[in-house]
Amino acid sequence: MKRYITIDDQDNILNAEKREMVLLKANPCCHRRHCKFCDYYLDNVGLKPDEIISFNKEVLSNVSGKFGLLEVINSGSVFELPSSTINEIMNLAIKKNISTIYFESFPGYMKKIPTLKSLFLKNGITLRFRVGLETFNEEFRVNVLGKKIYNSLIHDIEEVYYSTCLIVGIEGQSKKDIINDIDEGLAHFKKITINVFCKNTTKIGIDYSLIRWFKEYAIQNLQGNDRIEIFLDNNILL
Ligand code: SF4
Repeated sequence: MKRYITIDDQDNILNAEKREMVLLKANPCCHRRHCKFCDYYLDNVGLKPDEIISFNKEVLSNVSGKFGLLEVINSGSVFELPSSTINEIMNLAIKKNISTIYFESFPGYMKKIPTLKSLFLKNGITLRFRVGLETFNEEFRVNVLGKKIYNSLIHDIEEVYYSTCLIVGIEGQSKKDIINDIDEGLAHFKKITINVFCKNTTKIGIDYSLIRWFKEYAIQNLQGNDRIEIFLDNNILL
């Protein structure tokens, strides 16, 4: 598994926002028993705090700051990282002239976001938060994906989050859902990231014909829109 990559002009990403990306380790995701489609959290099971800290230090040593933009992911929420890793990210950004950082966070931690934003901003660093809504179809999100985020929260979410991740290609999704998700995503957030679902260790099924349709649709209709980043292959870190 790759822990450090640069997002540049890869063929499998449409409208890529140039940045460095690190995949760190953290305490296990607070929502891991609910999301039926996700096995990322397994990356963080069974680690001691000291091991997490030294592992992250090593991964962060790859960051050069060449784009001034860094994305930090940790198979969960940034608030599950040890505080010493968060401090290290802030010091790294200061040292390498990184002006903007993307973090991810589940809405359960939403109240902590303004404090973290202020802390970084005092050092001239803007934080952009992503939330994985996956879809605006609440029934599908809650009952099929198991993600307990209700649409009634979206108004509060859009106040503090910069962008959302959407998913495409899960059995039961329709073309209409996907087009609606893109419209809603753009209406509520500055940017959206669309991930084409890849087979993983969960029991969630893939709709390959929907994925074929979407890839063609995206290339014809969404290419060139810098508010919509599309990972045509979501296994970029594997
Ligand atoms: S989808 Fe996100 S919130 Fe859900 S288990 Fe995976 S990492 Fe956690």
